[in-house]
Amino acid sequence: MSESSPGKKSISAIKGTKDILPREARAWQQAENIAKNVFELYGYREIRAPVFEATELFEKGTGQTSDIVIKEMYTFTDKGGRSVTLRPEYTPSVVRAIIEHRLYLQPGPLRFYYIGPMFRYDKPQKGRYRQFHQIDIEVFGESDPAIDAEIVEMADYLLQELRISDTETLVNSVGCRKCRPAYIKELRTAAQAVAASLCADCQRKVTTNPLRIFDCKIETCGELARRFPEITAYLCAECDDHFRNFRAYLDLYGIPYRIEPRLVRGIDYYTKTTFEITTVKLGAQNAVVGGGRYDDMMKDFGGPDICGIGFAAGMERLLSVARLEKKPESFVFIAHLGSEAKKVALGIARDLRRQAVECLLEFKERGLKAQLGRASKLQASWSLIIGEEEIKKGQFLLKNMKTGVQREVRLEDIPDLVRTESRQD
Ligand SMILES: [Zn+2]
Ligand SMILES: [Zn+2]
Repeated sequence: MSESSPGKKSISAIKGTKDILPREARAWQQAENIAKNVFELYGYREIRAPVFEATELFEKGTGQTSDIVIKEMYTFTDKGGRSVTLRPEYTPSVVRAIIEHRLYLQPGPLRFYYIGPMFRYDKPQKGRYRQFHQIDIEVFGESDPAIDAEIVEMADYLLQELRISDTETLVNSVGCRKCRPAYIKELRTAAQAVAASLCADCQRKVTTNPLRIFDCKIETCGELARRFPEITAYLCAECDDHFRNFRAYLDLYGIPYRIEPRLVRGIDYYTKTTFEITTVKLGAQNAVVGGGRYDDMMKDFGGPDICGIGFAAGMERLLSVARLEKKPESFVFIAHLGSEAKKVALGIARDLRRQAVECLLEFKERGLKAQLGRASKLQASWSLIIGEEEIKKGQFLLKNMKTGVQREVRLEDIPDLVRTESRQD
């Protein structure tokens, strides 16, 4: 609590990171609780993996040609000479954990969720951070397209619970290892024809992975990409069937959607279904939820041949458009007069807290006026006055700070009284 002395340079948070201060943290807790409740209703259970992993996990999982791996990974060498990376996304960690702990031996499908920080060494800009937070769900071992639709429906419900409106659901299929190569070939030909007009980054992608051109944010590239062949015309029978059934289940749920053939999402491992839920509330149309299927990932990591699907949602983005109810603070400020009263007050505070009544008292002995002044500055809902008289009588003065109404109460009446009055707020 000391003031910074002149001449000494204070240390600030690292560029691209952000403190979530107590007032803001309330909204975070609310959103996190809503998400957890929704996911648990659908049978998901929490999994927590470490924040950093071996670099090769993400190179292999997220993909060598993805922008995340090429430009944005937070990678460093630790004191043991190992290359480690702060996770840029969550799925590879979950896949690793499933294989490592043989979770696939449990009755499937496995449904997991996670809420926590991710790290990308991106150019810090408005609303984008190098440490950001994601809500993430994954299902392993369910190939039925009904699950693809169910997770979209769950995401939709989550957004409803967060009271995020004006959303649009975009869906696509990116095919599989059987049908995608033929499409990529056509795509490369089309991209090669206009390569001179593409940005330097996209020119490189023409050879490495032309699918990634669709991720480019530069307008001229986007304009050209709109005339490229569409993957949906190249799907094999299995992928086409899966995509059709997925959409039929969305119809069943009554979820409107738009097919967006350029929705490939910035990650290499997707197969079949990809989807995004966007909202116009974020200025331009921006995704609040994005996900897809990754049927080959587990196998590619040396695990069993188990398909997977999931989605992620950025907490910062969700919170910027969520309309959460602000719950007023509700606590009792205990004012005490005299050293004997202080001791009694300490005991009363403990007892009230044991009965789930939030209370606060200050340890310094001050006048009543000063203490009540503190109570109103802290926006206490009630103040409870404890003086020698009150202790003798066993009756205390409880003041509702909002209405100004005071009444004599016995200690045992306080929990009920406080709860009734908070409900009336
Ligand atoms: Zn296919
Ligand atoms: Zn480009």
